[in-house]
Amino acid sequence: MNHIEDRINHLLGQMTLEEKIGQLNQPMIHGLPGLDLLRQGQAGSIINAFGALSGQGFDHLSSAEQCNALQKAALESRLGIPLLFGRDIIHGQRTVFPIPLAQAASFNPTLVETINRIAAREASAVGIRWTFAPMLDIARDARWGRIAEGYGEDPYLTSRMAEAAVRGFQGDDVSQPDRLVACAKHYVGYGAAEGGRDYEQAEISEPTLRDVYLPPFRAAVAAGAGTVMSAFLDLNGVPATANRRLLTDVLRGEWGFDGFVVSDWESVGELVQHGVAEDQAHAAALALRAGVDMDMVSGAYQTTLAENLHRGRITRAEIDEAVRRILRIKFRAGIFERPFTDPERAQRDILTHDARAFARQAARETMVLLKNEHNLLPLRDFRRILVAGPFAHATAELFGTWTMDGRAEDVTPLDRAFQEVAPAGVELWFAAAPDLAMSRAHYADAVVLLVGEHPARSGENANVSDLGLPPGQLEWITAMAAIGKPIVLVVFAGRPLAITRAVAQAQAVIYAWHPGIEGAAALAELLFGLAAPAGRLPVSMPRTTGQAPLYYNRKPTGRPLIADGPFRTRYVDTPTAPLFPFGYGLTYTRFSYSDLRLSSSRMRGALEVSALITNTGEQAGTEVVQLYVRDLVGSLTRPVRELKGFQRITLPPGAAQRVTFTLREEDLAFTRADGSWGAEPGRFKVWIAPHCEGGLEGEFEL
Ligand code: BGC
Repeated sequence: MNHIEDRINHLLGQMTLEEKIGQLNQPMIHGLPGLDLLRQGQAGSIINAFGALSGQGFDHLSSAEQCNALQKAALESRLGIPLLFGRDIIHGQRTVFPIPLAQAASFNPTLVETINRIAAREASAVGIRWTFAPMLDIARDARWGRIAEGYGEDPYLTSRMAEAAVRGFQGDDVSQPDRLVACAKHYVGYGAAEGGRDYEQAEISEPTLRDVYLPPFRAAVAAGAGTVMSAFLDLNGVPATANRRLLTDVLRGEWGFDGFVVSDWESVGELVQHGVAEDQAHAAALALRAGVDMDMVSGAYQTTLAENLHRGRITRAEIDEAVRRILRIKFRAGIFERPFTDPERAQRDILTHDARAFARQAARETMVLLKNEHNLLPLRDFRRILVAGPFAHATAELFGTWTMDGRAEDVTPLDRAFQEVAPAGVELWFAAAPDLAMSRAHYADAVVLLVGEHPARSGENANVSDLGLPPGQLEWITAMAAIGKPIVLVVFAGRPLAITRAVAQAQAVIYAWHPGIEGAAALAELLFGLAAPAGRLPVSMPRTTGQAPLYYNRKPTGRPLIADGPFRTRYVDTPTAPLFPFGYGLTYTRFSYSDLRLSSSRMRGALEVSALITNTGEQAGTEVVQLYVRDLVGSLTRPVRELKGFQRITLPPGAAQRVTFTLREEDLAFTRADGSWGAEPGRFKVWIAPHCEGGLEGEFEL
């Protein structure tokens, strides 16, 4: 038995039942009674520690000092078990990075890793050692507000980002004081909420659950994620927080997860509203027995587990096991050795020059160029440029959802950012008011129109029934287009919006997501050609709201192929294909794909697939080369395409590079009707492509 397990056993042997239950409890605490609770060892973690003691003479303390004051109280408890401070560090702490959905558009796991390494350094500098991230919910319905918090619609891309995020937060050694314990959430199926309505139920078949929704969690566990959060939803009739099969049999049994599971906010108590528990005590028993170790905020564990034990609903061993898992992560995080945070670190480690520079790079790499007629971009030869639209003076509106410590004054504002990079002699006018913008547009040579959704329109329970631009914005675009000046449309959003008519009226379109603190600066660099766009869509872009749910890796219908892409069904009022497909994005140069080669026409274990990618334009540029497969005949129907690899390459003009992927048998495997998992012999198609449609096509056999 290793050292940590010895220490856990030693500690467990000394703990009273009350102290054990205390470790399973994660309250929000308020005021001095909160401190007493900690001194009695009645909390294993606290959430949102800052301000917990406000009005109690602690207000002059910095965030780190507040955590230290709370920690001191916990250490005064009989056994002195330290607290793990948890908080939602979703896309940066003070240095706000692009939202996770935007990060996915980079198709660059290293970028995601670095973002979260910086986020970990900043958050740990104020005392936080545990983040409720990454969110790994596959989202196929853009109406769902939380699509902003995850990595999009694809299980392969999300899995790669999951590993990168865990590495970024935890590093090789999560006991280092500048690291955070990661939490893979929300386990599982949460993104499939019916109608895109947050918290609603989902029905997901076992093969789809196994092959689409679970893989990112499995990847996060394999990467060492210390914790997992159970979801709010009712999945196939069993609320996720009471799902023993998924929380215990799959997560622990099949995948070997040895960290702990935390419920979502009050989701233990919510088992009563779901209608599977009679009361809080019943709810607590169901959740604990399912495998939820820590109760976030509901208090049901704290108030009822002892009674449940005496009534024989749960066992001592079940409580011990939950405590053991929590202590294991606390030991791994090194908080017994280093329970306090050095308050000086906040001065050194937060909003550093490097963090800001990286935030700018991240914003640059995540924006997606969707249209660029006649190479309008980068902007050249325009003397007077009008920067207009509801986001023309945006600051904190660029942050996106879940940015608790971001500050508007930290943002490099648009006017300064544009002025800094616009070539000498270019006159820039800014106008957020429609009337002013319209009158100025007549005198401008080009218009940059900044539209999109306010951050409060995405995120938790911020769902929309209409994926169009917010009211008034399309009218504004139409009025501007009537003036006849070239329009660059920039869309800030937490989801893929249905912008068909807006796109048709602009000559160039950049999808900028919610890009964070350096978003304006990055945008200016792209517009004026100091850098070239490199993002690709991690989601299918809908034409209309009615297309939702929309995703590329769908099943074929029984109807024969038709020419216009993989969609075989039709609406009578709109095409079925997305406006822009998954994986799509332009840059300031062009790439050609040629000479697809397969190392063999038959896969034996593995196969190499390669193609020659050539930069045929006049500038250097970055291409995201994508590998897709299709199993032509399966015992169950198989998706029309599935992403199995991607590589980001940067080439100078005229240069060519052969890009090689190794496809393995397990990449072809899927969950079959009898629950078994494996690849089936037969014919497969393979593509190397710039997005999920088209590309070079080959075929092989297994
Ligand atoms: C959200 C979680 C979050 C938690 C703590 C819940 O409402 O669903 O994603 O981590 O609150 O803030």
